[in-house]
Amino acid sequence: MDIQTFKDYGYRFVDWIADFYDNIESYPVLSQAEPGDIKKQLPGIPPEQGEDMDKIFDDFKKIIVPGITHWQHPSWFAYFPANSSIPSLLAEILTAALGAQCMVWQTSPAGTELEEVVMEWLRRMLGLPEEFSGVIQDTASTATLCAMICAREKSTDFTVNSRGFTIEGASGRLALYTSTQAHSSIEKGAKIAGFGKEYVRLIPVDDELRMIPDELEKAITKDKADRIKPCCVVAALGTTSSLALDPLRPIGEICRKYDVWFHIDAAMAGTAAILPEKQHILDGVELADSFVFNPHKWMFTNFDCSAYFCRDARHLIRTFSINPEYLKTDVDMKVKNFRDWGIQLGRRFRALKLWFVIRSLGVEGLKEKVRQHIRMAEEFAGWISEDPRFELVVPVSLNLVCFRYNPKDKPYSEEELNEKNKALLDDLNHSGKLFLTHTKLKGKYTLRFCIGQTNTDRHHIEEAWRSIQSSKIIQ
Ligand SMILES: *Cc1c(COP(=O)(O)O)cnc(C)c1O
Repeated sequence: MDIQTFKDYGYRFVDWIADFYDNIESYPVLSQAEPGDIKKQLPGIPPEQGEDMDKIFDDFKKIIVPGITHWQHPSWFAYFPANSSIPSLLAEILTAALGAQCMVWQTSPAGTELEEVVMEWLRRMLGLPEEFSGVIQDTASTATLCAMICAREKSTDFTVNSRGFTIEGASGRLALYTSTQAHSSIEKGAKIAGFGKEYVRLIPVDDELRMIPDELEKAITKDKADRIKPCCVVAALGTTSSLALDPLRPIGEICRKYDVWFHIDAAMAGTAAILPEKQHILDGVELADSFVFNPHKWMFTNFDCSAYFCRDARHLIRTFSINPEYLKTDVDMKVKNFRDWGIQLGRRFRALKLWFVIRSLGVEGLKEKVRQHIRMAEEFAGWISEDPRFELVVPVSLNLVCFRYNPKDKPYSEEELNEKNKALLDDLNHSGKLFLTHTKLKGKYTLRFCIGQTNTDRHHIEEAWRSIQSSKIIQ
C-alpha cells in the first residue's frame, strides 16, 4: 500500500471511529449474534491473492461489528469496565505505528524510561509505599502469577528455579491462601506455579464476604503443624463477585509474623485509591510484598495494561532474569531491562497510552470521573433500597451494586427468586439497551451493576433503573 492510499484509508477509518463513538448508543450493548453466526460468514481458507482494502473494511462492518459486545457503550454495567478513552485510543494508534518491542532498554529506550516514569506517577497517585517499584504487565492474572512465582522462589531459596520440582520438599508442600471469593486467576496461577490446587487454602469470609484474618492464621498454623510450608497469601482488594475488600492490615501482620509473601489483587478497586476519601482502602498496604491493579479496567486505558508493584525489585529480577548472549548489551548495568521483570520477553509499548491518559485527563480529571462513578453507584443503591420489590444483597462497595428482585409482598422461595432474577437478567440483556451480569452470593442469584465506563452519565443510570423497574418479568 502506498503512502497516499494509506492516508486515504487512515482518514476514512478515523471518520468511521468518530461516527461509531458518536452513535455507540444505537448499538445493542450485548452482541445479538448466535453461536457460529460469525464463522459461517468467513471462508475456511485464506485468500491466495491480496484483497482490496475496501472489501476487507466492508466485511469488518458487515460481519465483525455485529459480533462485538460493546464494552465502550455507556450502558455497560456487566462484569467490570474495560474502559477506553480517546487519548488512549490515539496513543494505541501511535504505538501500532511505532511497532516497537520493549523487551530491553536498547530495543527502545523511551519504552523503558517512560514506563519507569508513568509507574512512578501511578505509585504516587495511589499513595503506595515509596520503596515499591512498578512494571506494566499484560493482565492481573499474569501479575499475580509473577507474585506467586516470586513467593515460591523466596520460600525455597530459589531451588525450584535452579533444580526444578524434583527436589524433596520443594513441590506440593508450599501452601497458598486466598479467600473463598478469590478470582479464578488465583487458582489458575497456583496450578501454573506448581503449588497444586490441593494446596490452595480457601479461607472463609465474614458476612460482607471479606477474608477472616483469624481463619487465615488458623490455616497457616495447621499447615505448619502438618509440615507444609505457608508460602503466599493473596488478598483481594475488591473481589470479583461483590468487590469485597479484604482487611489488608491484619492479613499483612499475619504474613509478617509467619514470613509469608503478601500479594494484593486490587484489579479493579485499586483505582479508587487515587481519591483522598478512599485512600483508607489501602490501609496496611505497606505490609505487602506485591500489589496489582488494572488501569485497563477503571482508568480509561485500553486493554491491556496492568500495573504491578513490588517491594523488592531485586528479588523479582533474580526470579525472572535470563541472560543469553544474544540479549546482552553494553548498558545492562546502567538501565532497567523489563524482560527480567516478568514472564514475557517481547513487550508492547503500553506506557505510551497510560502517559497520554494521565496527561490528558490530569490527576484531577481522573479523580472526578472515578468519584462520579462511585457517587452514581451510591445513588443507584439508594433507589434499590427504597423500592420494596428489590434488595441489596451486600452493601454497595465503591462502584459495584449487588442486588436482586425480592418483593416484600410476595413470599417466593429462594429457588423461585433465583429463577425470577435469572429471567430478569436475561430480559434486560436481550433488550440490548444495557448489559449487566450476575453472580451467586450466599447462594442467592444476584445481579451485579458495575459502573465504570468512561462515558456513563447519570441519565444512563436512570434509564437502566427504568428498564429494570419496567421489565415484564417482575410485573
Ligand atoms: C478482573 C480481575 C482479575 C483478572 O484480571 P485480568 O487483567 O483480566 O487478568 C483478577 N482479579 C480480580 C479481583 C479481578 O477483578
